[in-house]
Amino acid sequence: MRFESVPMPPSVEARPRDARGYPVPAITPWEDEQPQFALTDYERSAHCARGRLCSVCGRLMPRGPVWRVVGAAESSAIGEAVAAGRPYRNMAPTLEGPGHRACMLYASMVCPYLARPNARRGTSAYAPDDMTAHVVRGAVRGSMGAVVGFADYEFAITPDNVLFRFLDVVEFLPHDVSDAHLDELRAELAAREAAGD
Ligand SMILES: [Zn+2]
Repeated sequence: MRFESVPMPPSVEARPRDARGYPVPAITPWEDEQPQFALTDYERSAHCARGRLCSVCGRLMPRGPVWRVVGAAESSAIGEAVAAGRPYRNMAPTLEGPGHRACMLYASMVCPYLARPNARRGTSAYAPDDMTAHVVRGAVRGSMGAVVGFADYEFAITPDNVLFRFLDVVEFLPHDVSDAHLDELRAELAAREAAGD
């Protein structure tokens, strides 16, 4: 959807912008003053991981759950597990770091690459969609993806990558349409403002 119509979290508002006015996530590399939205910057990602910083806005994430946006295959796998009342465990690490609830709700609606900067790579052994695709074939259909809250996460900084692993689903918000989380985001921003964040 048009990004002007999605309310922007204050912490995202403070990000640098590209020529169109799109906010540039904390983990996005710059090349010749152009943000490379499809890529994740190793140093920036490692910095966020070490400091428990949101991969979208770059600010501290409080203790407690963290959120990320997942693609269709992983969303289906999580949806099935939730529906069956069993825990979801995806032990495949991902290059995509966590963020605030508001930031991930925002990113899920504004631009898939804001939230899933590695989505276009597709060939990485670490892409969760590749890992789970064979499991979820023929499973729950109709979800483009989801904003998912996890109780905890861990990370590893290797010489080549910053890898994240997410544990224990605490919230599952699938989306079939691009503006699915608009009301949820408005409510979250109002709650954060009331809390003085
Ligand atoms: Zn954030």
